[in-house]
Amino acid sequence: QAKDDGRNTFRYFTPGLHRAMSERLDLEQKLRQAVQTEAFCLHYQPIVDMHQGTVTGVEALLRWPQADGSFISPDRFIPVAEETGLIETLGQWVLEQALADLAKWHARGWPLTMAINVSGAQLQHTKGDGFDMLLAKALERHQLDASQVHIEITESMLMDDNSRGLVNLRRIARLGCDIYLDDFGTGYSSLSYLKKFPISVIKIDRSFVERLPQGESDAGLVRAIVNMGQSLGMKLVAEGIETEAQWQFLASLGCDYGQGYLLSRPHSFEEISAWLPQQQLPGQCVNQ
Ligand code: C2E
Ligand code: MG
Ligand code: MG
Ligand code: MG
Repeated sequence: QAKDDGRNTFRYFTPGLHRAMSERLDLEQKLRQAVQTEAFCLHYQPIVDMHQGTVTGVEALLRWPQADGSFISPDRFIPVAEETGLIETLGQWVLEQALADLAKWHARGWPLTMAINVSGAQLQHTKGDGFDMLLAKALERHQLDASQVHIEITESMLMDDNSRGLVNLRRIARLGCDIYLDDFGTGYSSLSYLKKFPISVIKIDRSFVERLPQGESDAGLVRAIVNMGQSLGMKLVAEGIETEAQWQFLASLGCDYGQGYLLSRPHSFEEISAWLPQQQLPGQCVNQ
Protein backbone atom coordinates (compact mmCIF):
# COMPACT_ATOMS: atom_id res chain seq x y z
CA GLN A 1 0.00 0.00 0.00
CA ALA A 2 1.32 3.45 -0.93
CA LYS A 3 2.27 5.62 2.02
CA ASP A 4 0.30 8.81 2.34
CA ASP A 5 2.96 11.38 3.06
CA GLY A 6 0.46 14.17 3.47
CA ARG A 7 1.18 15.89 0.18
CA ASN A 8 -0.99 15.75 -2.93
CA THR A 9 -0.51 12.02 -3.48
CA PHE A 10 -2.87 9.18 -4.21
CA ARG A 11 -2.85 5.55 -3.25
CA TYR A 12 -1.65 3.89 -6.38
CA PHE A 13 -1.52 0.36 -5.11
CA THR A 14 -4.87 -0.59 -3.65
CA PRO A 15 -6.01 -4.17 -2.98
CA GLY A 16 -8.51 -3.78 -5.84
CA LEU A 17 -5.78 -2.84 -8.26
CA HIS A 18 -3.64 -5.70 -7.02
CA ARG A 19 -6.46 -8.14 -7.69
CA ALA A 20 -7.04 -6.73 -11.17
CA MET A 21 -3.35 -7.08 -11.96
CA SER A 22 -3.05 -10.65 -10.84
CA GLU A 23 -6.26 -11.60 -12.66
CA ARG A 24 -4.85 -10.06 -15.80
CA LEU A 25 -1.54 -11.92 -15.41
CA ASP A 26 -3.47 -15.12 -14.83
CA LEU A 27 -5.53 -14.58 -17.99
CA GLU A 28 -2.40 -13.79 -19.97
CA GLN A 29 -0.71 -17.00 -18.83
CA LYS A 30 -3.78 -19.13 -19.59
CA LEU A 31 -4.09 -17.48 -22.99
CA ARG A 32 -0.44 -18.13 -23.84
CA GLN A 33 -0.93 -21.80 -23.07
CA ALA A 34 -4.22 -22.00 -24.95
CA VAL A 35 -2.59 -20.50 -28.05
CA GLN A 36 0.19 -23.09 -27.84
CA THR A 37 -2.24 -26.00 -27.54
CA GLU A 38 -4.78 -24.50 -29.99
CA ALA A 39 -7.49 -24.79 -27.35
CA PHE A 40 -9.98 -22.68 -29.34
CA CYS A 41 -12.86 -23.26 -31.67
CA LEU A 42 -14.80 -21.19 -34.16
CA HIS A 43 -18.51 -20.57 -34.16
CA TYR A 44 -20.25 -19.34 -37.28
CA GLN A 45 -23.14 -16.90 -37.53
CA PRO A 46 -25.18 -16.82 -40.76
CA ILE A 47 -25.48 -13.64 -42.84
CA VAL A 48 -28.67 -13.28 -44.87
CA ASP A 49 -29.45 -11.35 -48.05
CA MET A 50 -32.36 -9.16 -46.91
CA HIS A 51 -33.80 -8.77 -50.42
CA GLN A 52 -33.80 -12.48 -51.31
CA GLY A 53 -34.06 -14.01 -47.85
CA THR A 54 -31.21 -16.42 -48.59
CA VAL A 55 -28.15 -17.25 -46.50
CA THR A 56 -25.12 -15.88 -48.35
CA GLY A 57 -22.37 -16.51 -45.87
CA VAL A 58 -21.20 -16.75 -42.29
CA GLU A 59 -18.99 -14.79 -39.91
CA ALA A 60 -16.32 -16.69 -37.98
CA LEU A 61 -16.38 -15.87 -34.25
CA LEU A 62 -13.63 -17.12 -32.00
CA ARG A 63 -14.51 -19.14 -28.89
CA TRP A 64 -12.30 -20.14 -25.96
CA PRO A 65 -13.99 -23.10 -24.24
CA GLN A 66 -13.35 -23.69 -20.54
CA ALA A 67 -13.31 -26.93 -18.55
CA ASP A 68 -16.75 -26.16 -17.04
CA GLY A 69 -18.35 -25.90 -20.49
CA SER A 70 -18.48 -22.09 -20.52
CA PHE A 71 -16.64 -19.78 -22.94
CA ILE A 72 -14.47 -16.78 -22.22
CA SER A 73 -15.76 -13.94 -24.39
CA PRO A 74 -13.55 -12.73 -27.23
CA ASP A 75 -14.27 -9.19 -26.01
CA ARG A 76 -12.21 -10.14 -22.92
CA PHE A 77 -9.33 -12.09 -24.42
CA ILE A 78 -8.82 -10.49 -27.87
CA PRO A 79 -7.52 -7.23 -26.32
CA VAL A 80 -5.06 -9.28 -24.20
CA ALA A 81 -4.01 -11.24 -27.29
CA GLU A 82 -3.39 -7.94 -29.09
CA GLU A 83 -1.33 -6.42 -26.28
CA THR A 84 0.83 -9.52 -25.87
CA GLY A 85 1.37 -10.16 -29.58
CA LEU A 86 -0.34 -13.56 -29.24
CA ILE A 87 -2.92 -12.34 -31.77
CA GLU A 88 -0.54 -13.15 -34.62
CA THR A 89 -0.45 -16.88 -33.92
CA LEU A 90 -4.09 -16.92 -32.87
CA GLY A 91 -5.15 -15.00 -35.98
CA GLN A 92 -3.29 -17.45 -38.21
CA TRP A 93 -5.12 -20.32 -36.55
CA VAL A 94 -8.47 -18.57 -37.14
CA LEU A 95 -7.63 -17.98 -40.80
CA GLU A 96 -6.61 -21.60 -41.37
CA GLN A 97 -9.60 -23.08 -39.50
CA ALA A 98 -12.16 -20.76 -41.12
CA LEU A 99 -10.92 -21.43 -44.65
CA ALA A 100 -10.73 -25.18 -44.05
CA ASP A 101 -14.38 -25.14 -42.90
CA LEU A 102 -15.40 -22.92 -45.82
CA ALA A 103 -13.80 -25.37 -48.26
CA LYS A 104 -15.77 -28.19 -46.60
CA TRP A 105 -19.04 -26.28 -47.08
CA HIS A 106 -18.19 -25.65 -50.71
CA ALA A 107 -17.44 -29.34 -51.22
CA ARG A 108 -20.89 -30.12 -49.77
CA GLY A 109 -22.58 -27.77 -52.25
CA TRP A 110 -22.94 -24.65 -50.09
CA PRO A 111 -21.24 -21.73 -51.89
CA LEU A 112 -21.09 -19.56 -48.78
CA THR A 113 -18.81 -16.61 -48.12
CA MET A 114 -16.67 -16.37 -44.98
CA ALA A 115 -16.18 -13.18 -42.97
CA ILE A 116 -13.06 -13.10 -40.79
CA ASN A 117 -12.36 -10.52 -38.08
CA VAL A 118 -8.84 -9.13 -38.22
CA SER A 119 -7.20 -6.86 -35.62
CA GLY A 120 -5.06 -3.89 -36.45
CA ALA A 121 -2.14 -5.65 -34.78
CA GLN A 122 -2.40 -8.48 -37.32
CA LEU A 123 -2.19 -6.05 -40.22
CA GLN A 124 0.79 -4.24 -38.81
CA HIS A 125 3.06 -7.11 -37.94
CA THR A 126 6.50 -6.95 -39.38
CA LYS A 127 8.15 -10.35 -39.01
CA GLY A 128 7.91 -12.94 -41.79
CA ASP A 129 4.92 -12.96 -44.11
CA GLY A 130 2.47 -10.10 -43.79
CA PHE A 131 -1.20 -10.90 -43.29
CA ASP A 132 -1.88 -10.48 -47.01
CA MET A 133 0.67 -13.18 -47.86
CA LEU A 134 -0.71 -15.53 -45.20
CA LEU A 135 -4.15 -14.95 -46.66
CA ALA A 136 -3.01 -15.53 -50.25
CA LYS A 137 -1.31 -18.79 -49.26
CA ALA A 138 -4.32 -20.00 -47.27
CA LEU A 139 -6.66 -19.25 -50.19
CA GLU A 140 -4.37 -21.21 -52.49
CA ARG A 141 -4.03 -24.11 -50.05
CA HIS A 142 -7.81 -24.48 -49.80
CA GLN A 143 -8.45 -23.60 -53.45
CA LEU A 144 -10.79 -20.79 -52.57
CA ASP A 145 -11.49 -17.67 -54.54
CA ALA A 146 -10.59 -14.39 -52.80
CA SER A 147 -14.09 -13.05 -53.50
CA GLN A 148 -15.45 -15.73 -51.15
CA VAL A 149 -13.55 -14.32 -48.17
CA HIS A 150 -14.38 -11.02 -46.44
CA ILE A 151 -12.03 -9.27 -44.05
CA GLU A 152 -13.65 -7.34 -41.18
CA ILE A 153 -11.74 -4.48 -39.60
CA THR A 154 -12.83 -1.81 -37.11
CA GLU A 155 -12.58 1.96 -37.12
CA SER A 156 -9.84 1.93 -34.49
CA MET A 157 -7.61 0.28 -37.06
CA LEU A 158 -8.16 3.23 -39.40
CA MET A 159 -7.67 5.80 -36.68
CA ASP A 160 -4.15 5.11 -35.52
CA ASP A 161 -2.26 6.89 -38.17
CA ASN A 162 -0.61 3.82 -39.62
CA SER A 163 0.50 3.75 -43.20
CA ARG A 164 1.53 0.09 -42.90
CA GLY A 165 -2.06 -0.82 -42.09
CA LEU A 166 -3.27 1.06 -45.16
CA VAL A 167 -0.67 -0.57 -47.41
CA ASN A 168 -1.66 -4.01 -46.13
CA LEU A 169 -5.37 -3.33 -46.54
CA ARG A 170 -4.77 -2.27 -50.13
CA ARG A 171 -2.86 -5.51 -50.75
CA ILE A 172 -5.73 -7.54 -49.30
CA ALA A 173 -8.21 -5.65 -51.48
CA ARG A 174 -6.00 -6.25 -54.50
CA LEU A 175 -6.09 -10.00 -53.80
CA GLY A 176 -9.83 -9.70 -54.36
CA CYS A 177 -11.15 -9.90 -50.78
CA ASP A 178 -13.80 -7.35 -49.81
CA ILE A 179 -12.97 -5.23 -46.77
CA TYR A 180 -15.84 -4.79 -44.30
CA LEU A 181 -15.90 -1.94 -41.79
CA ASP A 182 -17.24 -3.55 -38.58
CA ASP A 183 -19.11 -1.86 -35.71
CA PHE A 184 -19.61 1.22 -37.84
CA GLY A 185 -20.49 4.35 -35.90
CA THR A 186 -18.85 3.42 -32.60
CA GLY A 187 -15.37 4.80 -33.32
CA TYR A 188 -14.21 8.37 -33.25
CA SER A 189 -12.53 8.69 -36.60
CA SER A 190 -13.49 11.11 -39.36
CA LEU A 191 -15.55 10.03 -42.33
CA SER A 192 -12.73 10.81 -44.74
CA TYR A 193 -11.27 7.35 -44.15
CA LEU A 194 -14.19 5.89 -46.08
CA LYS A 195 -12.61 7.39 -49.19
CA LYS A 196 -9.02 6.74 -48.19
CA PHE A 197 -9.36 3.05 -47.30
CA PRO A 198 -10.53 0.35 -49.69
CA ILE A 199 -13.78 -0.40 -47.87
CA SER A 200 -16.63 -1.98 -49.80
CA VAL A 201 -19.12 -2.89 -47.07
CA ILE A 202 -20.26 -1.14 -43.87
CA LYS A 203 -21.57 -3.13 -40.91
CA ILE A 204 -23.98 -1.02 -38.87
CA ASP A 205 -23.21 -1.55 -35.20
CA ARG A 206 -25.66 -3.46 -33.03
CA SER A 207 -26.06 -0.51 -30.66
CA PHE A 208 -27.94 1.43 -33.38
CA VAL A 209 -30.13 -1.55 -34.30
CA GLU A 210 -31.13 -2.25 -30.68
CA ARG A 211 -33.80 0.45 -30.31
CA LEU A 212 -35.23 0.22 -33.84
CA PRO A 213 -37.76 0.99 -35.11
CA GLN A 214 -39.23 3.10 -32.20
CA GLY A 215 -36.03 4.89 -31.19
CA GLU A 216 -36.35 7.99 -33.32
CA SER A 217 -32.78 9.21 -33.16
CA ASP A 218 -31.41 5.74 -33.90
CA ALA A 219 -33.85 5.31 -36.78
CA GLY A 220 -32.62 8.61 -38.19
CA LEU A 221 -28.98 7.63 -37.74
CA VAL A 222 -29.43 4.25 -39.40
CA ARG A 223 -31.29 5.83 -42.30
CA ALA A 224 -28.43 8.32 -42.71
CA ILE A 225 -25.79 5.55 -42.58
CA VAL A 226 -27.64 3.51 -45.23
CA ASN A 227 -27.99 6.55 -47.49
CA MET A 228 -24.35 7.50 -47.04
CA GLY A 229 -23.14 3.96 -47.75
CA GLN A 230 -25.33 3.71 -50.83
CA SER A 231 -24.13 7.02 -52.25
CA LEU A 232 -20.54 5.85 -51.78
CA GLY A 233 -21.36 2.68 -53.71
CA MET A 234 -20.99 0.46 -50.65
CA LYS A 235 -23.15 -2.42 -49.42
CA LEU A 236 -24.62 -2.46 -45.92
CA VAL A 237 -24.93 -5.18 -43.31
CA ALA A 238 -26.98 -4.69 -40.14
CA GLU A 239 -25.74 -6.62 -37.11
CA GLY A 240 -27.60 -7.62 -33.97
CA ILE A 241 -31.06 -8.02 -35.50
CA GLU A 242 -33.18 -9.63 -32.78
CA THR A 243 -36.77 -8.80 -33.73
CA GLU A 244 -39.02 -9.07 -36.75
CA ALA A 245 -39.76 -5.32 -36.49
CA GLN A 246 -36.04 -4.48 -36.71
CA TRP A 247 -35.71 -6.73 -39.75
CA GLN A 248 -38.69 -5.10 -41.51
CA PHE A 249 -37.44 -1.61 -40.79
CA LEU A 250 -33.90 -2.30 -42.04
CA ALA A 251 -35.18 -4.08 -45.14
CA SER A 252 -37.47 -1.13 -45.94
CA LEU A 253 -34.46 1.22 -45.76
CA GLY A 254 -32.70 -0.88 -48.39
CA CYS A 255 -30.13 -2.50 -46.13
CA ASP A 256 -28.53 -5.36 -48.13
CA TYR A 257 -27.61 -7.97 -45.52
CA GLY A 258 -28.66 -8.86 -42.01
CA GLN A 259 -27.20 -10.80 -39.13
CA GLY A 260 -28.49 -11.45 -35.63
CA TYR A 261 -30.16 -13.76 -33.14
CA LEU A 262 -33.49 -13.46 -35.03
CA LEU A 263 -31.93 -15.53 -37.84
CA SER A 264 -29.45 -17.55 -35.84
CA ARG A 265 -26.98 -17.28 -33.00
CA PRO A 266 -23.39 -18.28 -33.76
CA HIS A 267 -23.01 -22.09 -33.69
CA SER A 268 -20.42 -24.78 -34.39
CA PHE A 269 -19.61 -25.94 -37.93
CA GLU A 270 -21.71 -29.10 -37.48
CA GLU A 271 -24.68 -27.23 -36.02
CA ILE A 272 -24.70 -24.69 -38.84
CA SER A 273 -24.32 -27.53 -41.38
CA ALA A 274 -27.46 -29.13 -39.95
CA TRP A 275 -29.29 -25.77 -39.89
CA LEU A 276 -28.54 -24.75 -43.51
CA PRO A 277 -30.74 -27.33 -45.30
CA GLN A 278 -33.72 -26.21 -43.18
CA GLN A 279 -33.32 -22.70 -44.57
CA GLN A 280 -32.79 -23.38 -48.25
CA LEU A 281 -31.57 -25.85 -50.83
CA PRO A 282 -27.85 -26.54 -51.36
CA GLY A 283 -26.29 -24.32 -54.01
CA GLN A 284 -28.99 -21.74 -53.53
CA CYS A 285 -26.74 -19.30 -51.70
CA VAL A 286 -26.31 -16.08 -53.58
CA ASN A 287 -22.67 -15.54 -54.42
CA GLN A 288 -21.78 -11.88 -54.20
P1 C2E B 1 -18.12 -8.48 -33.97
O1 C2E B 1 -17.18 -8.85 -35.05
O2 C2E B 1 -18.83 -7.19 -34.09
O3 C2E B 1 -19.14 -9.70 -33.86
C1 C2E B 1 -20.49 -9.57 -33.55
C2 C2E B 1 -20.78 -9.90 -32.09
O4 C2E B 1 -22.16 -9.71 -31.84
C3 C2E B 1 -20.48 -11.36 -31.75
O5 C2E B 1 -20.05 -11.39 -30.39
C4 C2E B 1 -21.86 -12.00 -31.89
O6 C2E B 1 -22.00 -13.20 -31.16
C5 C2E B 1 -22.74 -10.91 -31.35
N1 C2E B 1 -24.11 -10.97 -31.89
C6 C2E B 1 -24.51 -11.37 -33.12
N2 C2E B 1 -25.85 -11.23 -33.27
C7 C2E B 1 -26.31 -10.71 -32.10
C8 C2E B 1 -27.63 -10.33 -31.63
O7 C2E B 1 -28.64 -10.44 -32.33
N3 C2E B 1 -27.70 -9.83 -30.37
C9 C2E B 1 -26.60 -9.69 -29.56
N4 C2E B 1 -26.78 -9.21 -28.33
N5 C2E B 1 -25.36 -10.04 -29.97
C10 C2E B 1 -25.22 -10.53 -31.23
P2 C2E B 1 -18.80 -12.27 -29.95
O8 C2E B 1 -18.82 -13.57 -30.69
O9 C2E B 1 -18.81 -12.28 -28.46
O10 C2E B 1 -17.56 -11.46 -30.48
C11 C2E B 1 -17.23 -10.21 -29.94
C12 C2E B 1 -16.15 -9.52 -30.74
O11 C2E B 1 -14.90 -10.20 -30.62
C13 C2E B 1 -16.42 -9.48 -32.25
O12 C2E B 1 -17.35 -8.45 -32.54
C14 C2E B 1 -15.04 -9.21 -32.78
O13 C2E B 1 -14.72 -7.84 -32.70
C15 C2E B 1 -14.17 -9.98 -31.80
N6 C2E B 1 -13.76 -11.27 -32.41
C16 C2E B 1 -14.45 -12.43 -32.47
N7 C2E B 1 -13.75 -13.38 -33.15
C17 C2E B 1 -12.57 -12.80 -33.53
C18 C2E B 1 -11.42 -13.25 -34.27
O14 C2E B 1 -11.32 -14.38 -34.75
N8 C2E B 1 -10.40 -12.34 -34.43
C19 C2E B 1 -10.48 -11.04 -33.95
N9 C2E B 1 -9.43 -10.23 -34.16
N10 C2E B 1 -11.55 -10.60 -33.27
C20 C2E B 1 -12.59 -11.45 -33.06
MG1 MG C 1 -17.18 -8.82 -37.03
MG1 MG D 1 -19.59 -5.98 -35.30
MG1 MG E 1 -17.87 -5.91 -32.10
